[in-house]
Amino acid sequence: MAQSQALLPDLIALRRAIHAEPELGLQNPKTAAKVRAALAGLPLEFREGTSTSGFVAVLAGARPGRSVLLRGDTDALPMHEDTGLEYASTVQGAMHACGHDAHTAMLVGAARLLSARRESLEGSVMFMFQPGEESWHGARYMLDDGLLDPLPDAAFALHVMPNLERGVFAGRIGPLLASADVIRIAVVGRGGHASMPHDSLDPVPIACEIVTALQAFVTRQVSVFDPAVVTIGKIEAGTTHNVIPETARLLGTMRTLSPASRERVQVGIRRLAEGIAAAHGARAEVAFERGYPVTLCDARAVGLGRQVAESLFGAAAWRTMESPIMGAEDFAYVLEKVPGAMFFLGAAAGEGEPSACCGLHSNHMVLDERVMTRGAAPAVQRCSPRWRRASCARASGAADPRPPAAAAGLARRRPVHRSRSTPPGVMIRASVPE
Ligand SMILES: [Zn+2]
Ligand SMILES: [Zn+2]
Repeated sequence: MAQSQALLPDLIALRRAIHAEPELGLQNPKTAAKVRAALAGLPLEFREGTSTSGFVAVLAGARPGRSVLLRGDTDALPMHEDTGLEYASTVQGAMHACGHDAHTAMLVGAARLLSARRESLEGSVMFMFQPGEESWHGARYMLDDGLLDPLPDAAFALHVMPNLERGVFAGRIGPLLASADVIRIAVVGRGGHASMPHDSLDPVPIACEIVTALQAFVTRQVSVFDPAVVTIGKIEAGTTHNVIPETARLLGTMRTLSPASRERVQVGIRRLAEGIAAAHGARAEVAFERGYPVTLCDARAVGLGRQVAESLFGAAAWRTMESPIMGAEDFAYVLEKVPGAMFFLGAAAGEGEPSACCGLHSNHMVLDERVMTRGAAPAVQRCSPRWRRASCARASGAADPRPPAAAAGLARRRPVHRSRSTPPGVMIRASVPE
């Protein structure tokens, strides 16, 4: 922890530099350059792809062993910043309101701490600097580019949470975050004069009926034990008071916690919309835009994260979440292929109870930057020989005297993911004075 504390001024400076110059989407070249500069001189190998500005920095330990991936996302949100911070965004219409600037700085901190321990490190650590988390599927592109091949044995990510007490880690086994798909429904009727609706086919009341019916569908046909959320966030129809439009459009989101319910809810929405429209003699065109899958956390990885948090910071530093959050994360793509876990890290600014105001994606979102040392330090612990021995003991079937949770070995090796069409990531050797 002492080494981690010593890094804090550097991490704050890096985070603020990234915060002041946020970048959106899959190409975050300025952020990548800042990270590269902060990693200069470390014994890392860099892998780059063709689809994004993301890269993976690999630290090979001096001894053989398993590989662990740590991920930090680098992109910002398309929104205006109103924090009034001295290092607030200088880019019009872009803000780091989801804390990815802090994730990136913490991952740099972890890389520096672990590099300093390279001689005692078993196996390797992959530091994944990933753009395009905010709906751009950046993690999937990096997987498809082959940057994570051969796949690591375990993968971890942290997400800061401004509404959670400072320094507290939170996580859960199983679904942590939901799948998120976009729903588009077009109700097609027949336009006409608003005073003579019987001569036209008004799509507006039909669209309203569909919105209401969707809510009944969720409560009556979706199990409360495998829940779903369906929200129509936008209704668009017509141009003025005396014209019946031909089309009414609905735009919404559906969130689920299992592949089965994801499938069921999509089928149900389609059936409902098409059926209601048909009942009125109209037509509904239903389309889904597939978003992120469910973020599923491996039991052993969560156990390991908990143990590390408690051993470093005490029992009060861990919170088991009772329920998932219906937000979504593209780290889910990594966890589909590699056992692992994502954790939240409380970063409430100010003293007293964390407020409900100014959470993630708020134009007023601020963090307590001191938590960044807490974010960086556990990475070292997770990758330490002690934990790795636990993994290896289990993998080889050797008896482990500790209880199963303490011997939180990480899962069997999964088949190596191969990209569909893109070539494997290019390996670039860094110039490393050791
Ligand atoms: Zn976000
Ligand atoms: Zn985020």
